[in-house]
Amino acid sequence: MHVFKSLEYIARKLDPPPSKPTVKTLAEMKTYKIAAIPGDGIGKEVIAAGLEVLNACAASDGGFSLAWQTFDWSTDYYKEHGVLMPESGRDQLLDFDAIYFGAVGAPDVPDHITLSGLRLAICQPFDQYANVRPTRIFPGIESPLRGVTAKDLDWVIVRENSEGEYAGQGGRSHRGLPQEIGTEVAIYTRTGVTRIMRFAFELARSRPRKLLTVVTKSNAQRHGMVMWDEIAAEVAQYFPDVTWDKILVDAMTARMTLKPGTLDTIVATNLHGDILSDLAAALTGSLGIAPTANLNPEGKFPSMFEPIHGSAFDITGKGVANPIGAFWTGALLLDHLGEKNAAARLLSTIEAVVADKSNHCPDLGGQATTRKVTAAVIAALQNPVSHPAGKCKDETL
Ligand code: ATP
Repeated sequence: MHVFKSLEYIARKLDPPPSKPTVKTLAEMKTYKIAAIPGDGIGKEVIAAGLEVLNACAASDGGFSLAWQTFDWSTDYYKEHGVLMPESGRDQLLDFDAIYFGAVGAPDVPDHITLSGLRLAICQPFDQYANVRPTRIFPGIESPLRGVTAKDLDWVIVRENSEGEYAGQGGRSHRGLPQEIGTEVAIYTRTGVTRIMRFAFELARSRPRKLLTVVTKSNAQRHGMVMWDEIAAEVAQYFPDVTWDKILVDAMTARMTLKPGTLDTIVATNLHGDILSDLAAALTGSLGIAPTANLNPEGKFPSMFEPIHGSAFDITGKGVANPIGAFWTGALLLDHLGEKNAAARLLSTIEAVVADKSNHCPDLGGQATTRKVTAAVIAALQNPVSHPAGKCKDETL
């Protein structure tokens, strides 16, 4: 059950605020082994920035340190070696406390090769079945939804991450002929659906509103999705304190945009969760600020943390990628490691930095560079009293 503890800060929205950092002796200090996989495009830029910020956060906390090993697995690696990562890749990652991942995908290699060769090749064998995406509007960021502010939109999307529409079942026959067939079979197992429902109900229970919305499409998909609904109802019986409802995925897009305040915790299949969380990210200002945790809740395998956005080749190399999604992802990673104070402090620092519009990158309508935002977060972490962002944090203490 420790994962639910690890999600505490998502649930309690950093309230009460973190205590001040304490200094530990070298012998008391914990060192966590973290694998960094920057991957492709702006993944390289935002993960480099994230490493700096997480190291600054650890240094200012004084209670732990991070030992990084960076892996160059990516599309470039594929072009040289014919694979996105070596056969021993997963074994090499087993010993790490967590994985910090950038993005994978390049314009000149089909996405299904890059995605399945790296991201899915880690998520699936490590049974990272819970993909958790907190979504809210930071102070200083305007939602494209008229009049919607932080108090109206504060969700956590739980996306089933191991089966469903992305299970990889299917095939092609009669290639190139008019009668060619392609199938993509969605797989829902009782085990898979039960565990994601339990996870979602547990998370909903830990949040103040205790409110869960189950996304479905059981009107048109009459087998797997009907089982999904039935299992949701079965699991709900163990959570009488959680209010829950069910909605078709198409209607959900309208509800997210028209009545965002009626939602809190959301659970959806792999495909539905994938699509809805991009919508959620857009509604909170930009894809560039949204984080993800791919959790193996039982802790049998390392969990993986990544910003939601992809490689974004249209802005790669320009120095304007918004690193906030990677930083917020870093806060999720620290929280997962058990470094609750550092995680909370990093998130409150990010919020304070973003509240200043001069720290907005072009995706948020500003002119800030990746470097400027990174430097602002590091300065606030290092000097919480004199830096405006740090000052803002102190006021909340
Ligand atoms: P992929 O195929 O790897 O998912 P993509 O380009 O299709 O990549 P994203 O990388 O998610 O999809 O980008 C979608 C749009 O959002 C692009 O215009 C991109 O520039 C923008 N974007 C994504 N992430 C960021 C970011 N961190 N900062 C600024 N803009 C971003």
